[in-house]
Amino acid sequence: MANEADVAAAAGRGPDLPGTMRAAVLFGPGDLRVVDRDVPAPEPDEVLVRVAMCGACGTDLKIYDGHFPQTPPFGEYTPGHEWTGTVAVPGAGVDEFAVGDRVCIEAHRGCGRCDNCLVGRYTACLNYGNRAKGHRATGMTANGGFAEYAVHHVGSLYALPPSLSFEDGVLITTAGTGLYGLDVAGGYVAGLDVAVLGPGPVGLTTVQALKAMGAARVILVGTRASRLELGQRLGASHVINAREVDPVAAILELTGGAGADLTVECSGSPGAPQQCAEVTKRGGKIVIVAFYPGPVTFDLSSVVRKDISIHTSRGEGGNNVKRAVALAAQGRLNGAALVSHWFPLEDIATAFQVMRDRLGDPVKVVIVP
Ligand SMILES: [Zn+2]
Ligand SMILES: [Zn+2]
Repeated sequence: MANEADVAAAAGRGPDLPGTMRAAVLFGPGDLRVVDRDVPAPEPDEVLVRVAMCGACGTDLKIYDGHFPQTPPFGEYTPGHEWTGTVAVPGAGVDEFAVGDRVCIEAHRGCGRCDNCLVGRYTACLNYGNRAKGHRATGMTANGGFAEYAVHHVGSLYALPPSLSFEDGVLITTAGTGLYGLDVAGGYVAGLDVAVLGPGPVGLTTVQALKAMGAARVILVGTRASRLELGQRLGASHVINAREVDPVAAILELTGGAGADLTVECSGSPGAPQQCAEVTKRGGKIVIVAFYPGPVTFDLSSVVRKDISIHTSRGEGGNNVKRAVALAAQGRLNGAALVSHWFPLEDIATAFQVMRDRLGDPVKVVIVP
């Protein structure tokens, strides 16, 4: 009689690979349960990864509440889009990675066949959410990393250098978001004065990237003292607590009245676009990488009068996760410094509560399946 290892080998799995795993599954709005699920099998161009850690963010709270489009159906859907781990099974067509390789990810995989994907703009894939056409965004339109195992397209995986921890690996995905925003806004930041609004994980990784790329002054604006202190430790040249001073006046004063050459909006606060308009220099640029709770109002005419360009970007496109890995490997991007809370998968509901109620001042909360 065949033993379990033989069965696993016949199924293309390693002898140590179990048939089932623990996974957080969303059964409905606010109903996330940790249950047993079959370990997914990778397609030929996919890799099965043993998840070491998966970060949680504001998007996951929207998902938890049931406010996210194009997800897999309730009862089947495992969220989690900021994960890292170790290759368990490379798909049949994969020779880029081997069992045991440590990897980090970008969340988006474009269809590869639409106009936008053909020019590399895969986070703007015209087949967004269409799994049959090859699009998938892990943890959003496809099952993700709040589970012991996850499958991922080989083209969206990156080797995690040995000097980096899994905590660093989680923040690589986040850092890719800010880097893509800078990329879309022109990318050449050496010597520029840059204002960063919002000291969340995207803002804090963007601050580090800006310093690494030679920005002159990096002015970080927020409302939580602990995050601003962290931002200062990570390279912000000036921090402004918007609860204590008027951030617009403070930025204008720091820049001799001219304003920032570039303003990066990472806060998602409804008043932030107006602040961007007021603190950005004539002829400067604004890049918006945040999402807002609803429509926002701001004086667009003032932006036109000042000849300011507004850019937006979604997710971590443009192969910017590769750039984030390089910056982290060179010691210029510290992701682990942002991880403030760790929870086992079974306690994921508590982890979400900690984020929602900001219990213990979390920066990045990670789940360890
Ligand atoms: Zn996220
Ligand atoms: Zn596409």
